[in-house]
Amino acid sequence: MVQQLKPVDVVVVGLGWTGAIMARELTKAGLEVLAIERGPDRDAASSFALPSIRDELRYSIRQELMQDAKTDPVSFRHRPTDEALPIRRFGAFLPGDGVGGMGTHWNGNTFRFLPTDHRLKSHLTERYGAARIPDYMTIQDWDVSYDELEPHYAKFEAVCGVSGKAGNIRGAIQAGGNPFEGPRSGEYPNKPLTPSHANELFRKGAGDLGLHPFPAPASNSSAPYTNPEGAKLGGCQYCGHCDRFGCEADAKATPWSTLGPALTGEAKFRKLTQAYVSRVLYDKAAKRATGVRYIDVRSGETFDQPAEIVVLATWVFGNTRLLLNSGIGTPYDPKTGSGVVGKNYCYQIQPTCEVFFETEELNPFMGAGGLGMVVDDFNGDNFDHSNLNFFGGGYISLGSTNGRPINFRPTPPGTPRWGAKWKSETAKWYRRTASMLVEGTNYSSRANFLDLDPNYRNVFGDPLLRVTYNFTDNDRAMADWVLGKAAEIGRAMGATVVAPKPRKGDFNVTAYQSSHNSGGAIMGKSPADSVVNRYLQHWDAHNLFVVGASAFPQNAGYNPTAAAAALTYWAAQAIAGAYVKHPAPLVPA
Ligand SMILES: Cc1cc2nc3c(=O)[nH]c(=O)nc-3n(C[C@H](O)[C@H](O)[C@H](O)COP(=O)(O)OP(=O)(O)OC[C@H]3O[C@@H](n4cnc5c(N)ncnc54)[C@H](O)[C@@H]3O)c2cc1C
Ligand code: SF4
Repeated sequence: MVQQLKPVDVVVVGLGWTGAIMARELTKAGLEVLAIERGPDRDAASSFALPSIRDELRYSIRQELMQDAKTDPVSFRHRPTDEALPIRRFGAFLPGDGVGGMGTHWNGNTFRFLPTDHRLKSHLTERYGAARIPDYMTIQDWDVSYDELEPHYAKFEAVCGVSGKAGNIRGAIQAGGNPFEGPRSGEYPNKPLTPSHANELFRKGAGDLGLHPFPAPASNSSAPYTNPEGAKLGGCQYCGHCDRFGCEADAKATPWSTLGPALTGEAKFRKLTQAYVSRVLYDKAAKRATGVRYIDVRSGETFDQPAEIVVLATWVFGNTRLLLNSGIGTPYDPKTGSGVVGKNYCYQIQPTCEVFFETEELNPFMGAGGLGMVVDDFNGDNFDHSNLNFFGGGYISLGSTNGRPINFRPTPPGTPRWGAKWKSETAKWYRRTASMLVEGTNYSSRANFLDLDPNYRNVFGDPLLRVTYNFTDNDRAMADWVLGKAAEIGRAMGATVVAPKPRKGDFNVTAYQSSHNSGGAIMGKSPADSVVNRYLQHWDAHNLFVVGASAFPQNAGYNPTAAAAALTYWAAQAIAGAYVKHPAPLVPA
């Protein structure tokens, strides 16, 4: 039996970065907000205490903080003609679960997208002509410009206490920062993290090649910091246990370390945990969401929670699945190109290049989540693509993130994979190795999409989300080219061995690459090309807002969270400033 609950002003589904931002902004606007999260409650003091938080097997390998693939996996296939199978263990990406979502166990790299990323199709058409864009590439503009989002990027950086060096303040290029970034209204709130020796070798090597190295912007606080919400962050300890772990020092900005204290003290805010939302309740005739249905995962009881406004903040997979399961909007059909829900699913292509030094001690165990040195010279359209056979690019970074013993055992090419020689080479190189990463763009393709699996269901009886994804010719050509640039930097650093590792063959869903998935509920100019309008308001239900990277029409060559967060602040401003006064479509269809 479904139990009926009393109505609330707003239900926010999911309590990661986007859900927490929305909850905070809407309670500030005087609305009563109920956040419903499927996973457990978490906070640093009780969940991430020393010494147990430094357990690599428990958190990194056995993925304690992540979505449980045993009860709720996705199914995967490379092409529409393949049969999809449920993945039994998350590998390539690690969806979050519980208060804080993925933002609890992220690394903290906090990049803004380039101004051209926000209007990609128009930009490439203007510079290279429409005929250069391959037919399969279904890219489109965001319909929100970088300039519109700038104050919201700045707000997120202030909340996180981002450590970094600005490269462009109101159009004036700043020495030591990223000269390719869009104009910023001000400097980062914290100074950059202390660079590692490997970072300094990268800075010198890249600088010698005439490139523009800069410290990666990181939501790992380089000094104690109090954010505008009154939350206090500690200084980073360079503990090397950041991505996949919680931070016992509260030095990593997470949804709960930065916004939790303010939300906890807010009378209009409530959070409900271990409650799985299975449907958005939808009145199709009225074009309104009436609330959500959820299952208490401990008791199995089902509840209907009515609400005036529903916000989906369940990341790319959750947002798309909830829309499909609730029958809101037309599912994308790759054969005809019609429909929009599930369209333009993107990921990223991330080849790496390892560098080995006979004479340098790099001490990789000293690291911080977002600690790194970066060049942006080969990202997006920062370089001329006229004579190249691809669009896009990626930043190249040398990150000093971790040297944890189970996962970090690099050896030069040609080393046997087991036995005495493998052991001696591992011991020889452990402290003398670093890895460079290409964070590659991923431009949407007609053949990559999300839909409901016709065969497999999760533990709650809902169809699994089916992921159909592979790299395109554009991705492979771009990644190989930028990886060549990374290898040049490695040689300029004076490495004894430079070992590029291209991504060959089909996309590998079992090996971790990043959790930078996007699309499925994309934004655009009209219901024909998008699920949501520029305020992330659903075209078919004006009181339904679908927030996060699910709205990106394609993926940029950066970590996505700052862009997803900026968009969420932008949408929250529209709800609080305009929608609540006049509940109606904010953009005519
Ligand atoms: C190891 C790792 C490192 C990363 N490092 C970086 C980085 O350095 N920089 C960067 O920009 N990004 C990074 N990311 C990605 C980043 O964490 C995400 O982009 C960001 O946290 C997404 O926020 P979100 O609110 O959209 O989604 P999430 O954090 O996934 O939050 C969604 C929430 O919704 C809940 N939920 C889902 N479905 C339901 C349902 N049906 N009912 C109720 N609740 C539901 C989930 O449990 C989850 O808590 C990293 C991710 C991982 C895994
Ligand atoms: S590296 Fe810094 S921010 Fe990350 S978990 Fe360790 S102390 Fe916290």
